[in-house]
Amino acid sequence: MCRHVGYLGTPVRLDELLLRPSHGLLEQTWAPNDMRRGGTINVDGFGVGWYGAERVEPSRYRAAGPMWADENFAALAPEVSADALVGAIRSATRSTSAERTACAPFQSGRWLFSHNGSVPGWPDSLAELAEKLDPVRLLASEAPVDSAAVWALLSQRLSDGQPPADAVRDTLVEVVRAVPDARMNMLLSDGNLLIATSWTHSLSVCRTESAVVIASEPFELPAAARGDRDGSAPADSPWHAVPDGHLVVADREETSLTPLPDIELRDS
Ligand code: GLN
Repeated sequence: MCRHVGYLGTPVRLDELLLRPSHGLLEQTWAPNDMRRGGTINVDGFGVGWYGAERVEPSRYRAAGPMWADENFAALAPEVSADALVGAIRSATRSTSAERTACAPFQSGRWLFSHNGSVPGWPDSLAELAEKLDPVRLLASEAPVDSAAVWALLSQRLSDGQPPADAVRDTLVEVVRAVPDARMNMLLSDGNLLIATSWTHSLSVCRTESAVVIASEPFELPAAARGDRDGSAPADSPWHAVPDGHLVVADREETSLTPLPDIELRDS
C-alpha cells in the first residue's frame, strides 16, 4: 500500500526530508519495509503538499510516475523549504488509473489529505454513503479512485464544521461500517495539526526537539528535523510504532494517541 509522511517543525528542505534520508520516501518507492498485505512497491505516482510563509493554502507537486524518475521534482525539492508538509507515494488500488489527479495529497482549501489503504468494492460499496454528499463535491471529486471518495466524505465533514479529529474518526467508522475490510490509514493536515489513523497498515511517530513526524515507515531524519544545531542530537531518532486501531493527533507541542472506536468491526 502507499506510504505517506506528515511533518510539522522547523523549516526543512523537501530534498532533505524526502529524497536524501536513508529509508526516506524516495527509498520507500522501491524498497518499502512493511507493506503488509498490500502491494510491493510504490511507483504509480507521488505527491507533496507543503505550507510556506507567504500563503495560507499549501502548494502541491504531484506526478503520475515513480518519484525516482522525476527530474523536475529532483530539481525543485532543494529550492523549497517548509515548516509543514504531507508527502505520499502511490501503489494504485487495482483497476484504478495511474494518473496525477489520483495521487495524494488531495487538497481542499488549507487541508491536505492522504489515504494509505483501499476500499474493496469501490465505487459500489460507497454508493450509499455518497448519497449524503453535496452533489457539487461529488462532481468536483479529483479522480476516480477509492481514496478520492474517502476524501470527499471527510472534506464534507470538515466543511460542515466538524472538528478535524472527530471528522477523521467518524469518516473511518462510517467507511468501515459500510466496508468491513476497508484499509484505512489516513493522514490529514492544515499546516498546524497532523491527524493520522492506523487501521491495518503500519504507522510510526517521531517527536524531536524541533519537529514531529508521522510516517508509514520510520526513516533517518535530517539534522534540521532533529533540532541538531550543534551536532549533539543523537543520529538515531526516537520513532515509536503506533498500535493498530489508533487515532494520532499532533501539533507543534504535543502528540496524543487514542484508540479508535468499533474495533470489532474490523474484518481481519
Ligand atoms: N487506494 C489508493 C490508491 O489507489 C491508495 C492505495 C494504497 O495505499 N496503496 O491510490
